[in-house]
Amino acid sequence: MKTKIKKCRYCGKPLHSRTDFCSDACAMAYEQALRRDTPKIKFFTAGIILGIGIMLWGVFSGRSPVTGAGIGLLGATVLLLPFATPETVRLLGYRKSRALGRLLGLLLAAVGLWVGFF
Ligand SMILES: [Zn+2]
Repeated sequence: MKTKIKKCRYCGKPLHSRTDFCSDACAMAYEQALRRDTPKIKFFTAGIILGIGIMLWGVFSGRSPVTGAGIGLLGATVLLLPFATPETVRLLGYRKSRALGRLLGLLLAAVGLWVGFF
């Protein structure tokens, strides 16, 4: 992957130096955020696996409310625990990736509602 302009890993501001962060404050905030997120990754993984399982169960049994609930669970998981992939963080910065994660979670939850109940 080419890195033309480096961006602060936390706030996403373009950087003109070879560091990963625009300031010490951002570096510290990023580290704190990582430390806060790491224990939650197992819940995130569990929510995703469960959500996909329920969704597939709904698809194969032809029960759309079950499918919708599965997609809704996926959405809720992403919404509550928006873990960004390292690629997204590098591209947008931590804060924007989280906002993007929340947006995607909201969309997924809406799709789940729509599939299941309309
Ligand atoms: Zn920054």
